[in-house]
Amino acid sequence: MALNIMHVDMDAFYAAVEQMDNPELKGKPVIVGGISNRGVVSTASYEARKYGVHSAMPIAEAKRLCPHGIFLPGRHERYSEVSRQIFAILYQYTPIVEKVSIDEAFLDLTGCSRLFGNSIQIGRRIKADIYNKFGLTASIGLASNKFLAKLASDMEKPDGFFVIEEKDIDRILEPLDVGKIWGVGKRTAEILKSKGIDTIGRLKTLTIEELETLLGKNGVRLYYLSRGIDNRRVEVNNPVKSISHEETFAEDISDRNLILASLLRMSIKVSRRLRKAGLVGNTIEVKIRYGDFTTYTRSISISVGTNQTDIIYQKAIYLLEKNKLLNRPIRLLGVGVSNLSPEGPEQLSLFENNLKMEKLAKTIDLIRDKFGETSVIRARNLDDFKSR
Ligand SMILES: [Mg+2]
Repeated sequence: MALNIMHVDMDAFYAAVEQMDNPELKGKPVIVGGISNRGVVSTASYEARKYGVHSAMPIAEAKRLCPHGIFLPGRHERYSEVSRQIFAILYQYTPIVEKVSIDEAFLDLTGCSRLFGNSIQIGRRIKADIYNKFGLTASIGLASNKFLAKLASDMEKPDGFFVIEEKDIDRILEPLDVGKIWGVGKRTAEILKSKGIDTIGRLKTLTIEELETLLGKNGVRLYYLSRGIDNRRVEVNNPVKSISHEETFAEDISDRNLILASLLRMSIKVSRRLRKAGLVGNTIEVKIRYGDFTTYTRSISISVGTNQTDIIYQKAIYLLEKNKLLNRPIRLLGVGVSNLSPEGPEQLSLFENNLKMEKLAKTIDLIRDKFGETSVIRARNLDDFKSR
């Protein structure tokens, strides 16, 4: 069983974002969830949790427990904005991301090791990427299925990194409270505890029939979960719809070579992001804005999805020329690919030539990952890079 399923859960997300945006709040008990006594706590920082404050607790009670706490109303737009950027990091590693909530996701890493190393290395990189970009900590769990991965992310929270390997499942699960099992709410836990079943280990002493008699269908589910068996798939519920890049120039430009160099540079970025996400697109789009802010977008569909720089670049030039978009100085230029689908074997095998280009592109990606964006530069882009 491979450790292909990852659960990523941000630590005290709303409170941590408040502390990130206002460093004076760092190390202080921050409680997000309204300032009126009638509301409930949505997130408490770990400093506030020390006083017993937790999510869903009435604000009035939180104020009694932690009178010197800093109570904030919450800024959901800001949290969504940070969340989107965190998910963008996740999508760099795999397109198979299931968003559970604003700060929580499952990832299926099957097939990612070729590009990014094994699951443990990917987990470390994701944690580091999030920390380096925001100074925020995520807790990460790795296992062979969703139930175990979620349990794992909770084991060492905050700033956790925990792996549940096949051989350790029983040892780790058996001492845990039955309430730790996904879907065991207060009521189910009460029924179980009234029968003396307080841990997952105790739960395993019941037969599947006994559990079904006690709890119906849910009992059957618990029989399997208590043994670490969970066949749910990671469901892609928030797919990326397009990948694009645009640039506004310092001053309006009309030099054709300069425009084409920018276009190539952007095509490289877009194709690289597609390859990182394991995606290909069947629609290529250009966007152009002139000095007076009039804006045009033009697109073309292609029969075989691509993530190749040269194809994206050539189609973008075609669109600009066919629509005579280069006859005035331009302020902004953009290129994008949409109509996305997962990269399949047909993209690799359609043309032998494509296969070579694919390999070349992936090699260039790896070199750039290691040595930086400018380590490999195409001839056309050289002047452009020099002038930056
Ligand atoms: Mg969280």
